[in-house]
Amino acid sequence: MELTTVQDMVIQAFGIEGLPLIHRGDDLAALICERFRFEDGDILCVAQTVYSKSRGYTRDLSAIVPGEYAERLARRDNEDPRFVQAVLDEAKEILIDDPFILTELPFGHIGVRSGVDRSNIEDGQVALLPPDPCAAAKELREGIRKCSGCDVRVIITDTVGRAFRRGQTGNAIGWSGMTAIKDFRGARDLFGHELKITEEAVVDEIAGFANFMMGEGSEGIPAIVFRGCGYWEGHDNLYFRKEEDLIRRALCRRG
Ligand code: GDP
Ligand code: MN
Ligand code: MN
Repeated sequence: MELTTVQDMVIQAFGIEGLPLIHRGDDLAALICERFRFEDGDILCVAQTVYSKSRGYTRDLSAIVPGEYAERLARRDNEDPRFVQAVLDEAKEILIDDPFILTELPFGHIGVRSGVDRSNIEDGQVALLPPDPCAAAKELREGIRKCSGCDVRVIITDTVGRAFRRGQTGNAIGWSGMTAIKDFRGARDLFGHELKITEEAVVDEIAGFANFMMGEGSEGIPAIVFRGCGYWEGHDNLYFRKEEDLIRRALCRRG
């Protein structure tokens, strides 16, 4: 296995067209395989929304009884208190609740409104993030292997906001078959200097372009395949530990 980021400096990207509206119980891997001929080493990016819908990680708003805290935040933001309760229910820890709700989820992701979303799902329902997105990626990877016989790698993506800059981008929330980080530490730059701190979050870079191809609306393209990304070595510690996260510390000191 050659450890370059890009093989031959050409990467192909395929949007998988014609997938139906996804519902609980649908076999996503099979639906994708029916529409795309995989090759070994392909990287399949799947939008969190469709994975969550296929596995029933959704909630009916009508079944949610908001508590007093949710009611208060909902009044302030002119929101549906049941939606706010769903956001609070997903949180392991609430980092801030003003001017918006920012939480940490049990699997380590920190996101606005716990990643709970009302778009691209039937009225009256919300989509939740999968509780273990790396396990989700692994399950899809095995599903694709079963249908196609190919050894693909999988990233579960989500559209997220970020600090310091306007605009959302795609991030990887789960991955399988690759490390999240490509570790450059110990490598040399053009002038022979040793790289001491560079750890590239490659799964997020790939998810970002997948998200660009998916769009955010009615495009109906929740799965993108990249061919020719090559292989890398690194590690999976994508999320800062609580005590090393400076931004989190600064935010939480504020309140
Ligand atoms: P998120 O980024 O994971 O929260 O997902 P989005 O709601 O932004 O959707 C990403 C892409 O998937 C867009 O092209 C949507 O139109 C598409 N999409 C969402 N749900 C479905 C579905 O059930 N079926 C199909 N075919 N596409 C969907
Ligand atoms: Mn989402
Ligand atoms: Mn999106």
